[in-house]
Amino acid sequence: MGKGLQPDLFVKSIYSLDINWLKDRGIKGVLLDIDNTLITHKQKIPDEKVIELIKHFQENGIQTAIVSNATRRRVEVFNEKLGLYARYRSFKPSKKGFYKAMSKLKLIPSETAVIGDQLFTDIRGGNRLGLTTILVEPLDVNEPVTVRLKRFLEKIIVKKDPV
Ligand SMILES: [Mg+2]
Repeated sequence: MGKGLQPDLFVKSIYSLDINWLKDRGIKGVLLDIDNTLITHKQKIPDEKVIELIKHFQENGIQTAIVSNATRRRVEVFNEKLGLYARYRSFKPSKKGFYKAMSKLKLIPSETAVIGDQLFTDIRGGNRLGLTTILVEPLDVNEPVTVRLKRFLEKIIVKKDPV
């Protein structure tokens, strides 16, 4: 039995995530969503907050990789300065992108966390591989209607408990 759509942790923002929560659980790598997790749909390149966050992870012995459903161009432009291992068009909740990133970073499931804003892609995909899953509230409130519909369904399903 998997965890389905239930995240292990829900936080308001990736920028307010307590890194000790990860360290206490033996997490050695995080697989990051881009859109509405690290930046809004309107942004193209990482801002200072993104750069500081990645540095913060790395200084605490936590590796970082990008696993995104966005296009190759969007992911490559975003990652140009960061230089992380990055997967584009991952078709999350497919396991493949997560699996490839884990194998590149030499991580096993118990050491790996997924961080993203969508239950049906990020959380469901991570849970399918037995990873630790962290749901964040989306950065952008002005979302396309298809995304808003998914949010509505998510509200019914997840018991949100912001920390
Ligand atoms: Mg997203």
